[in-house]
Amino acid sequence: MPFYEYRCSECGHEFEAMQKMSDQPLSDCPECGRAALVKLVSATGFRLKGGGWYETEFKGSGKSSTTDEAASGGGGCCGGSCACQ
Ligand SMILES: [Zn+2]
Repeated sequence: MPFYEYRCSECGHEFEAMQKMSDQPLSDCPECGRAALVKLVSATGFRLKGGGWYETEFKGSGKSSTTDEAASGGGGCCGGSCACQ
């Protein structure tokens, strides 16, 4: 079920509501009670689409951890020549 973001044009209250596609858009602000809600383009949809992103990032981090291992093997911080020891 998608989330919709609403903002009240009277008091500025913003919130997210989970609604069915078929539900009527909300109009009454839960804060001030006025019928002044404006439906915003949901950023949540982008976050959900970002699932593919996560996968890409995961693959990328697999590569970078290999790099990290090589770096620590080569004597990075705490490798002996660092002032922290
Ligand atoms: Zn309001």
